[in-house]
Amino acid sequence: MAHQWRGVIREYADRLPVTENTRVITLGEGGTPLVYAPALSEKTGNEVYLKVEGMNPTGSFKDRGMTMAITAAVEAGAKAVVCASTGNTSASAAAYATQAGLKCAVLVPEGKISMGKMSQAIAHGADIIQINGNFDNCLEVARKLSENYPVFLVNSVNPARIEGQKTGAFEVVDFLGDAPDYHLLPVGNAGNITAYWKGYQEYASAYTNTAGVELAAVASKTPIMWGFQAEGASPIVKGHPVTEPDTIATAIRIGNPASWQQAEAARDESGGLIDSVTDTEILAAHRWLSSREGVFVEPASAAGVAGLLKHHAAGNVPTGKKIVITVTGHGLKDPDWALQKLDGSAVTPTKVDFDVLAVAKALDLA
Ligand SMILES: *Cc1c(COP(=O)(O)O)cnc(C)c1O
Repeated sequence: MAHQWRGVIREYADRLPVTENTRVITLGEGGTPLVYAPALSEKTGNEVYLKVEGMNPTGSFKDRGMTMAITAAVEAGAKAVVCASTGNTSASAAAYATQAGLKCAVLVPEGKISMGKMSQAIAHGADIIQINGNFDNCLEVARKLSENYPVFLVNSVNPARIEGQKTGAFEVVDFLGDAPDYHLLPVGNAGNITAYWKGYQEYASAYTNTAGVELAAVASKTPIMWGFQAEGASPIVKGHPVTEPDTIATAIRIGNPASWQQAEAARDESGGLIDSVTDTEILAAHRWLSSREGVFVEPASAAGVAGLLKHHAAGNVPTGKKIVITVTGHGLKDPDWALQKLDGSAVTPTKVDFDVLAVAKALDLA
């Protein structure tokens, strides 16, 4: 009989801060496919897998953290939640808050939210406040609101978010039977690299959970973590905040990551790196994923793949390894990027008459 995935809280309850009495707010997030990537594997001489997080209920990995954050908000008696967002956090918060019956306020930077993400927040009835500033300014306001008014902050500075998101690492290990050799992913506010590293670490040694029960190690090792920022928004690579972050990859357009130190810890403790990729490299990887692997992502999601291709070209990628790359959000979130060629020219359908032979000719079949 088919098994219905129960969402990350129920699937991993023994490793999350919940009890039997917790009212779980879930849309069935997690359990996303780990897809073998034949073209990337062949190109690099490795076994490359994509963790396709666009398959979550609102189309990004944010749902893993949001099920925990909204569940924790309800448990704490909250009536309203607030978040700053480049788009996906607001889409996710709005959906989970709706199920929980909470009011949801989202603070978004002016003019930088894709239509797909904005439509989700509107559909789920969030109060959308556009701030004349960038994401970092929005997060500052959201933090201060939650400190001074009765609203619960659900950005990834909320530890419940990281707890939920660490389940991505659990799923990778559960599927592969052990940790991969490398794990690559995009870095924006740096919550996700923090969460994956926490998940991998917890799975690689005995772990005492919140109920005081000791759980045996599941993995024999942890992977080397490689994180990738967009070049125009690469504060960790540069070593200082970027006041005017700029990239087409809006989900990682962040100049002062909230989890900066944790991201550096993940890098250093795993023997990994945090590097940057250009918008051109991101769009080439975005195109590679859709046209060679059959996986459609939003531009920011392709940063990990761009990083793999960049470091492969530079001769820094070994062969014969298991490499997992998180592709963070669905292509339908921001579909405009697929509608043009890499040189910027439009892709238009070939027009033919209502005639089988004409269609066959247009398809080079006749
Ligand atoms: C939020 C997000 C990121 C960045 O994740 P961080 O945890 O902020 O580093 C990358 N891609 C997508 C699609 C996102 O929504």
